[in-house]
This record gives sequence, C-alpha cells and structure tokens, in this order.
Amino acid sequence: MDRYAVIGNPVEHSRSPTIHHLFAEQTGQILEYGRVLAPLDGFTRTVQAFAAGGGKGCNVTIPFKQEAWSLAASRSPRAELAGAANTLRFDAAGWWADNTDGIGLVRDITRNAGVPLKGVRLLMVGAGGAAAGVLGPLIDAGVGELLLVNRTREKADALVASHAALARQRGVTLTSASLADLNGLTEGADERRTHGFDVLVNASASSLNAGAPPIPAGLLRPGALALDMMYGPAAQPFLAWAEAQGAVARDGLGMLVEQAAESFRDWRGVSPDTQPVLARLRAEVGGR
Ligand code: NAP
Repeated sequence: MDRYAVIGNPVEHSRSPTIHHLFAEQTGQILEYGRVLAPLDGFTRTVQAFAAGGGKGCNVTIPFKQEAWSLAASRSPRAELAGAANTLRFDAAGWWADNTDGIGLVRDITRNAGVPLKGVRLLMVGAGGAAAGVLGPLIDAGVGELLLVNRTREKADALVASHAALARQRGVTLTSASLADLNGLTEGADERRTHGFDVLVNASASSLNAGAPPIPAGLLRPGALALDMMYGPAAQPFLAWAEAQGAVARDGLGMLVEQAAESFRDWRGVSPDTQPVLARLRAEVGGR
C-alpha cells in the first residue's frame, strides 16, 4: 500500500491522517497515512528513513518547512517563491517540493468563508514557514494592500523583500513592520472605521499555547474577517478576541482541509471534494 505521513514536532495532535483517509475513501484511492515525530535536530534523517521504508511522500509541519524546501531536488514555482515547503513527493528522479498552504488559505477565505480578497486591506501577523507559504498566493489573489508584521521585524522585512517583485507586478502595496509598531496604528478610532483592515490573518504561532493574540485592539473595520491558522481549543482565545473586535472570526480548520486536498492532488492526481470532509471535521473539532 502507498504510504504517506505528516512529519513534524509536535505532530501527535495533527488531523491530517483523518483528512487524507477520508479523501482516499471518497476517491477510491488505496493508501495509508500516518504521523511521524522528527527530533528537532533530525528532520532530514527522519524523512530519508520514511522514504527508504517505502514512503511515497509526506506533509511537513512546524518547524521543518524551510528544511523540507532545502531537501528537494526540484520545486513548484509557489514553493520556490515561498522558500518553505509543506509537501514532498519522493519521485524516482529526485524529491519534489510544493507549498499548498497558500492556495488552501485563499480557497478557505474566498470559497468557504465567501469573503472576496480583491482589493482588500490585509494585515498578516507572523513571518515563519506558514506566512512564507501564503504570502505569494495572497498577492496573486489581488489584495490591494498587505501589511506583514512580526515579533522579529527582520524576518518580516526579508519576506517582503523576497516578494517585492511579485507585488509590484500585481500592483499590490506590500509593506512590513514589527508587532510593536502596530500600537501606533490604533490611534484615531474614526479613521479606523473608514480605513481599518478588512482581513486579518494570524500566521504566527501565538495561539500554540492558547494565548491571547499579540495584536492591539482597534485595527479592524467592523465586520472584517479575522482568521487564525490555529484550530481546535487553542484557537478559542483568538476567536473570542476577534468577536470582541466586531470581526467575523474563523479558525484554521478550513485552510487545513483545503491545503491537504492540494497535497492529495500532488500525490494522487485527483482533487477530492473538501466540503463533506470539512463538515465532518468541524463536527468533531468545533470552532468556526
Ligand atoms: P514557525 O515557522 O515556527 O513561525 C512561527 C511564527 O510565529 C514566527 O513569525 C514567530 O515570530 C511567531 N510567534 C511565535 N510565538 C509568538 C508569540 N507569542 N507572539 C507573536 N509571534 C509569535 O511556524 P509556522 O510553520 O509559520 O506556523 C505558524 C502557525 O500556523 C502554527 O500555529 C501552525 O500550526 C499554523 N499553521 C496552520 C496551518 C493550517 O492549515 N491551518 C498551516 C500552516 C501553519 P518570531 O519570528 O519573532 O519568532
């Protein structure tokens, strides 16, 4: 049986095996999908052992997406731009890497949440592997303005620099700042009502320990979409915070299912229907 897995650290709570088994059942594909915990200093040897044991491909999660990118012999254009990969396929000619996080996020926002991205003012927090994967696809989706903020400013600056040419080409205003700089933007409530952000994407790992988001209040326009890539109980403080801001709150479960569907297509050449799978997970995991 063809074998796949999600490799990360931590990985035990990943829902990817459930999602891929549901996709396989729906599309009549015969495969096995598991979880593999890689030591923090042992990602490469863990993937090599999985491939040597008959693995056909894997998903890669926190904190190994940049390392996965480096391991590949060739990459999709979106992975190339991101500098991070969440999908590896062990082709005989050499390992191939993709990054499906961005298309997953864009599909969840535009199709599942029904929020158009064309022309919006978008604030994204975080500059790690997840942010790197979604920045290009958000620019491609036609946002008007994108402000990328991170706790460590230099990482946000570097991501913006590597995407500057694409942003210019698409006519998107792309800028970076540190999280600390955001406080200056909350002054002037009237201005905020007319100029506040339409969409907030929390691509930082701030919810990993179920903490409150590191984002000052008052940056979003009423009715804005506020999405945290985290899902499950750890996303609850973010969802509560977003609703207290007058925003429509959304967690990362839809993105998770959508990015998985694109990885499945990379490996099996078929696109599963994400809707019944998302509905089933939503019933199990809760959230919104
Ligand atoms: P990563 O590469 O380790 O990057 C972590 C990022 O979070 C960095 O920008 C880091 O800032 C920031 N950060 C961490 N703790 C913070 C805090 N307390 N306050 C402010 N910023 C903080 O991780 P990643 O791969 O990008 O993943 C980020 C999150 O997205 C994770 O929670 C992951 O589970 C989630 N995710 C979900 C999906 C999905 O499908 N739903 C897909 C991908 C990722 P510094 O640079 O300053 O350290």
